[in-house]
Amino acid sequence: MITCFDIGGSFVRHGLLQTDGNVVESGRVETPGTDWLSFVDAIKNRCDTGSDPVSISLAGAFDERTGIADVANIPCLHKRNVLKDLEAALGRTVLITNDADAFALAEAVAGSGRGKPVVFGIILGSGVGGGIAVNGGLVKGYDGIAGEWGHGPVMDPTAGGQLSGLGHFPCGCGQTGCIDAVCSARGMEKIHLSLHGLALSSRQITGAWHEGDPAAIRTIEAYTTLLSRALSVIVNTLGPHVVPVSGGLSGEAALLDLIDRKTRALVLADYADPLVIKGRFAENGGLMGASIIARIAYGEAPA
Ligand SMILES: [Zn+2]
Repeated sequence: MITCFDIGGSFVRHGLLQTDGNVVESGRVETPGTDWLSFVDAIKNRCDTGSDPVSISLAGAFDERTGIADVANIPCLHKRNVLKDLEAALGRTVLITNDADAFALAEAVAGSGRGKPVVFGIILGSGVGGGIAVNGGLVKGYDGIAGEWGHGPVMDPTAGGQLSGLGHFPCGCGQTGCIDAVCSARGMEKIHLSLHGLALSSRQITGAWHEGDPAAIRTIEAYTTLLSRALSVIVNTLGPHVVPVSGGLSGEAALLDLIDRKTRALVLADYADPLVIKGRFAENGGLMGASIIARIAYGEAPA
């Protein structure tokens, strides 16, 4: 049986591809971050005894041309040829897909984008990512990087003149002022710290926002303004029929609603319905996407 994995910085989640095409999470273990052999064991111990393929959603960039992953928060995989090394260690065929791509594909095939030609799935969590699916298939792009709108030093630190003194935030990619650095959950926290001198978690900030706290209101206004301005350019470029959201901030319905209204006010097209919405697979897009990748590669799930 094909085993599907969702490998994140915190957990390795796994599930078996069902005959109806769905995948059900059957367990999770903490991600062995630094030790390659422990990581291999974590995968190996959750596969059956045969030699069926495994399909993996990976929380990081993956270049299928070279097999090399770029996963700074899982050091034992970072810059490694994960595809070659894992296939050698497991004695199985390994399929690897970036987690944002897996989520976008899951939404396009079986979620909020089902039957819709263009789906731009985005992740708003510890980082900002994205994946593009057109007519039910992934757009990979040069080096497999299509959809990764989180990087590039594009941020206006004045939020269109609404702010002063916000400053440019350095990004993990080496640049300064990336969407990922400003509009991730950590970015929201940095905005709050920069504006008010208060070190709160994103959960605390959104909680204070719900209670009408003026400082949190200002932070969320800046955050959603910066995010929707960047997103509007992507929406005008791609013309997505829906922008499903995954990641830790996707559970904040009011936040997504505000991002949606601000984005739709900025774009050229006149969207009659909400565009930026919580994805159907916001919680399990990695596993679901990995299962769809396996089905595309191997046909229907084995009985
Ligand atoms: Zn960056």
